[in-house]
Amino acid sequence: SAEQHGLRTSELSVRYGGLVANDRVELRVEPGEIVGLIGPNGAGKTTFVDAVTGFTTAEGEVFLGGQRIDGLPPHQRRRRGLSRTWQAGELFGNLTVAQNIEVAVAHGGFGAIVRDLFGRRRASLGETVTAALRTVGLDGIEDTVTRDLSLGQQKLVGVARALAGNGQVVLLDEPAAGLDSQESLEFAERVRGIARGGPGVLLIDHDMSLVLGVCDRIYVMEFGKVIFTGTPAQARTDSRVIAAYLGVP
Ligand code: ATP
Repeated sequence: SAEQHGLRTSELSVRYGGLVANDRVELRVEPGEIVGLIGPNGAGKTTFVDAVTGFTTAEGEVFLGGQRIDGLPPHQRRRRGLSRTWQAGELFGNLTVAQNIEVAVAHGGFGAIVRDLFGRRRASLGETVTAALRTVGLDGIEDTVTRDLSLGQQKLVGVARALAGNGQVVLLDEPAAGLDSQESLEFAERVRGIARGGPGVLLIDHDMSLVLGVCDRIYVMEFGKVIFTGTPAQARTDSRVIAAYLGVP
């Protein structure tokens, strides 16, 4: 059933010494859905991504496609289709676009042939790269040297790299940082295109017009707790959200 898919957390908590960086977070991302996660600096957004992807130790449950994944190491979560970008997710500028994606696919343990969970051949490495680039609307740039792309295109290649192979849910940690407002608009359009293709997207960003403009639902986090979840329209009028994050409207 539809509720078997996507990402869901239950009572997810992360402690750093005495600091509760994530406090019993309940969050879900359905296939094809764009979900925003916003909150002030230090609220715990990156910690949430680290916890869900297995890069930091957490309590609670994480489900992907209806299956528990919280006991798995990061690369196994990645292979099951949960991928992320990094806040400082630089590409190798001197490599081609294809090489940048191939490195990630190979590092993800996919090998030269991407297989599904049953070991059936899904695609060659070249086919995987091309399909990932098509997902973000960048066709035919496989052989371009990465540093020759615009910053906006490089960000999209970073997203393609995250999705390559088996992208079911992708967690984007401040992907639009450094983009101007026109580039952010274009980026948002591409994110819509990604979600239309099936994957669920979790978008973390400080650009409120980007997040409120592109997301179907948002979560607001403060001091590690989810203090609001709802539509962007509901967020704009919620007094807690305004007080915690949006400032005086
Ligand atoms: P930003 O918007 O600035 O990226 P954030 O919402 O992503 O912030 P986190 O980076 O998740 O917030 O940080 C949440 C809290 O956890 C902060 O108080 C931070 O100092 C703390 N923290 C994060 N990582 C660690 C760590 N590895 N060890 C100890 N404390 C940490």
